[in-house]
Amino acid sequence: MIVVMKPDATKEQIQAMIKKIEDKGLKTILLEGTNRNVIAAIGDKREIPPEFWDRQPTVERTVPILAPYKMASRELRPETTTVPIDGQVLGGRKVGIIAGPCTVESREQVLEIAHAVKEAGALALRGGAFKPRTSPYSFQGLMEEGLEILALAGEETGLPIVSEVLTAEHVPLVSKYVDVLQVGTRNMTNFLLLKAVGESDKPVLLKRGMSAQLEEFLLAAEYVLSQGNPNVILCERGIRTFETNTRFTLSLTVVPQLKELSHLPVLVDPSHATGKRSLVPPMAKAAIAAGADGVILEVHPKPEEAWVDGPQTLSLKEFEKLMADLRRLAPAVDREI
Ligand code: PEP
Ligand code: MN
Repeated sequence: MIVVMKPDATKEQIQAMIKKIEDKGLKTILLEGTNRNVIAAIGDKREIPPEFWDRQPTVERTVPILAPYKMASRELRPETTTVPIDGQVLGGRKVGIIAGPCTVESREQVLEIAHAVKEAGALALRGGAFKPRTSPYSFQGLMEEGLEILALAGEETGLPIVSEVLTAEHVPLVSKYVDVLQVGTRNMTNFLLLKAVGESDKPVLLKRGMSAQLEEFLLAAEYVLSQGNPNVILCERGIRTFETNTRFTLSLTVVPQLKELSHLPVLVDPSHATGKRSLVPPMAKAAIAAGADGVILEVHPKPEEAWVDGPQTLSLKEFEKLMADLRRLAPAVDREI
């Protein structure tokens, strides 16, 4: 429910209204506007009978939020949200490029990549320290040592760090080293993890589950938002279909759809979506053309020697070239890098 306050409602009257709504067991968010202040009341609306609103002289009108994902919806927040990432911003006019290795292999590897992607204009460095691998026999990540290497690269280059957190128990540990907590496709419905990152003060990069429908994706974001963390970045990374030619099927139509339905910034991951190096640059360009706020890419000095996901990883040269192409493309869709 959106509660539109009268234009002359004072700060005290707004606070009193918030208290009344919260006393009914609902959560509130105050959205301050230039003309009017609006209170979003979130929870079970049966708690508040319709007559209650008729008795409130400071309320102009109430409007129901129809979407099941209340806090993620544009009905609640018509203006697009920008997410602050350690001094940078994702979701404004600028397109944000996040790049780095699939997995942290060594200090030398990460530092070389970090300096190169920084030089090329990346907004943040990605890298996995805890890896969600399909097989228990595959490399599982350097874990805390990997996080230490990422933090060092962040200090050396000034790049914010994005890294995946696999379990709710690991949130404090990963948060100690990184600037953005990534929740991977395999964990999009790990509701306890979503709640745990929702309680964190770090921005969350939430990847779409590989078989999740758009509404389920936005409801996963709602889990994070409803715990009090407003900084959620959505990431389309491809879904499972009958097609086996590519690793997943990149569903680019969700980009403008998510932008229509939600105020949250949207990224695309063409590396995991395609699984093929040659398809990454065209799909990255297509993502920006479709309105994405950025892309997240895997890069490595020697992709053919990468421990994980080499076939979908760009070399540093290929990344540099892609950045130059994206820089030329962005103005065509009223964006810049
Ligand atoms: C990753 O980005 O490292 C990753 C494992 O991606 P996804 O969860 O999309 O498979
Ligand atoms: Mn990978």
